[in-house]
Amino acid sequence: MRWAEAEYAGWGRAVRATGRLARPERASALAAIMADAPAPAIGANRSYGDAALNDGGRAVLTTRLDRICGFDRDAGVIEAEAGVRLGDLLDAVAPHGWLPPVLPGTGHATLGGAVAMDVHGKNHHRDGSFGQHLDGLTLIQPGGTAVEVRPDTPLFAATVGGLGQTGAIERVRLRLTRTKGEVMIVTERRVPDWDAHLAALDGAAAPYTVGWIDATATGAALGRGIVEEGATGAGLVPPPRPARRVPLDAPGFALAPPVVRAFNAAYWRRVPASGRTVVRPLADFFFPLDRIGDWNRLYGRRGFHQFQCVVPTDRAPALRAMLEEVARSGLASPLAVLKRLGPGRAGTMSFPMEGWTLAVDLRNTPEAVRLAERLEAAAATAGGRIYLAKDALASGATIRAMYPAHAEWAAAADAADPDRTLVTDMVRRLGLRP
Ligand SMILES: Cc1cc2nc3c(=O)[nH]c(=O)nc-3n(C[C@H](O)[C@H](O)[C@H](O)COP(=O)(O)OP(=O)(O)OC[C@H]3O[C@@H](n4cnc5c(N)ncnc54)[C@H](O)[C@@H]3O)c2cc1C
Repeated sequence: MRWAEAEYAGWGRAVRATGRLARPERASALAAIMADAPAPAIGANRSYGDAALNDGGRAVLTTRLDRICGFDRDAGVIEAEAGVRLGDLLDAVAPHGWLPPVLPGTGHATLGGAVAMDVHGKNHHRDGSFGQHLDGLTLIQPGGTAVEVRPDTPLFAATVGGLGQTGAIERVRLRLTRTKGEVMIVTERRVPDWDAHLAALDGAAAPYTVGWIDATATGAALGRGIVEEGATGAGLVPPPRPARRVPLDAPGFALAPPVVRAFNAAYWRRVPASGRTVVRPLADFFFPLDRIGDWNRLYGRRGFHQFQCVVPTDRAPALRAMLEEVARSGLASPLAVLKRLGPGRAGTMSFPMEGWTLAVDLRNTPEAVRLAERLEAAAATAGGRIYLAKDALASGATIRAMYPAHAEWAAAADAADPDRTLVTDMVRRLGLRP
């Protein structure tokens, strides 16, 4: 296998790594690597921080392991290699009346990355997390042995949401969900403040819901936003909205506070006061940001961080206080999202808990790093947790406390990988396998 030296980064581009990367095209080549010189597997590097980095070491990119191996169109079960992107999977199954059961906000994420982070989608409050829809997976462990991992086993619980620490996921078997057609019927409603935002998300009957939040609004308008409710439908697929690309790193003033405030106010008003219902292609609804290629360059050369935490339902006031702190700081970008999460989670280290999750993008500046530290402390006090797929800044002690079963998971990871060949920058930084 050829190993090429490369510099690569998390999606936020604030943390980087240099190391040797291999790109196997066959499961047999992946198995040979795991037998001879095991290294952490990484997907499309859509995690924002250092989850998929191994600075100074090696890593195995799975993106060429991208075959669909079997598709039972009657039962709606698909078997596919770990490097298949979720957007490609959606394109492959939707014409046959099926959808991937859980889709995060980007179609570039791979199946392996979706399992290793136990990702959630806009339907988490109803349908749970990605790992809850698996019939099983094939894991190639250090030493090269391929293991069939069934749900309801300790190895499954350590692998789903397990940050790639139990082995390289080679393929997964996923139960799909029925779709009424190839379009999304989306109702958009403006909400004027925090309480209305929570009430609208809570009262929504649609299977998919998400709130865009104006994280620059303060005072009586704190928490205002747009609530989207979506359901699949049949009908003519409208043309996708035009794709764009960010050609270069944007200068600092592009996201200066007055610019963001003005943009957010205009964005909020884009939806009529009476609301509206629109028909969208599936991918436009599930992956709205994918239409803008390299949008992470909007944050300039130094990149950005995303802070995402979840707090228990009854601690919503603590989340409101965190939003207030973000709004007061003037550091918010237009990208801020509020979602309802249900209790569903499939792994020991899975992120979701029943409650409210807030995600805010922050340009990588010293002030933003200090803000993220304050938000981390507030999330901990509220009994919440930070999402590792987004993190590059949190402290190990806080994260280990937020994931109380972490020691059990670390023991399972050590049993699977006794020589600690799969440790990544995130696992090192947070001391997750002490
Ligand atoms: C625009 C955007 C929107 C997003 N929205 C959401 C959202 O709504 N919900 C949500 O949950 N997440 C969301 N995310 C986060 C994203 O879904 C996760 O970070 C996901 O893990 C990315 O998949 P990936 O293939 O890029 O994995 P990577 O980022 O490359 O890797 C993530 C982790 O998985 C491990 N891994 C990857 N492949 C394998 C494998 N084959 N075997 C073993 N371990 C492996 C890596 O070691 C690493 O620990 C979003 C990200 C972006 C950029």
